[in-house]
Amino acid sequence: MSESTLYFLTYGWIGLAVVTFPVLIFVTAPYGRHTTRTWGKMISNRKGWLIMELPSLITFTALFLAGDHHGPNIIWFFFFLWQVHYINRTFIYPSRIRTKGKKMPLAIMFMAVFFNLINGFLNGYYFGYIHPVYPDSWVSDPRFIVGVIVFFSGMTINLLADEKLIHLRKNTDTGYYIPKGGMYNYISCPNYFGEILQWSGFAIMTWSLPALSFAIWTIVNLAPRAVDHHKWYKKTFEDYPDKRKALIPFIL
Ligand code: NDP
Repeated sequence: MSESTLYFLTYGWIGLAVVTFPVLIFVTAPYGRHTTRTWGKMISNRKGWLIMELPSLITFTALFLAGDHHGPNIIWFFFFLWQVHYINRTFIYPSRIRTKGKKMPLAIMFMAVFFNLINGFLNGYYFGYIHPVYPDSWVSDPRFIVGVIVFFSGMTINLLADEKLIHLRKNTDTGYYIPKGGMYNYISCPNYFGEILQWSGFAIMTWSLPALSFAIWTIVNLAPRAVDHHKWYKKTFEDYPDKRKALIPFIL
């Protein structure tokens, strides 16, 4: 596949994200606290997370490694970041969440599999086969430096926020509590805020269209969900902190 075909597909993928956004504003994805049994067959949360995240890891890794542009190059750093994130998200994170007995609709799992297949394919094919040329001086380019800072800030916020949520529950407890401390003092969903920053940083440091499409999809997936979580918190807890926003401190 040529570079122009890959870009054509990626623009189409971004177009799909743009039309999905208003849908997700009105339809709450039924997993986690918003789970409903009206979406058909269910699968355990832990298995669902593993199955839905695995395609991103496998597709990206296979295409990246099958490509032939593998000299000492900065793209190995991008490869490393992808591995670190997806090894955690696919294997470590699902084994740590306190989700005993909880399920998600199979339909949601398959939608996420589809998303991860396309996302892994576009990014893996880009780095494996299109051979983006980054000069040695890329490491001192402002786009790389800003991207790295944004990526690691986002990753840290996301990991700390997820960690706090995990420890709100004791062992087999599956109830909900008001998270406090750190960025939870400002927003209801710092894990989503961090994830959005992380993939925006990846798009900036790689300066690539497929990575930009991932950042856009992350916003489309998580911004409406943060608003839904925030409304749910306010409805569920009378003493929910008044000044806390949903996703962006002081703004949204
Ligand atoms: P949530 O914040 O909804 O839940 C994370 C975990 O914490 C779940 O196990 C949840 O339990 C538990 N939890 C959440 N809030 C509370 C609370 N108040 N009290 C006790 N336990 C709580 O995150 P998601 O499940 O939607 O996402 C998980 C991770 O995946 C996040 O880091 C997110 O950024 C990432 N993600 C990335 C996407 C992308 O497009 N890049 C898309 C979706 C997720 P329960 O399941 O029982 O609600």
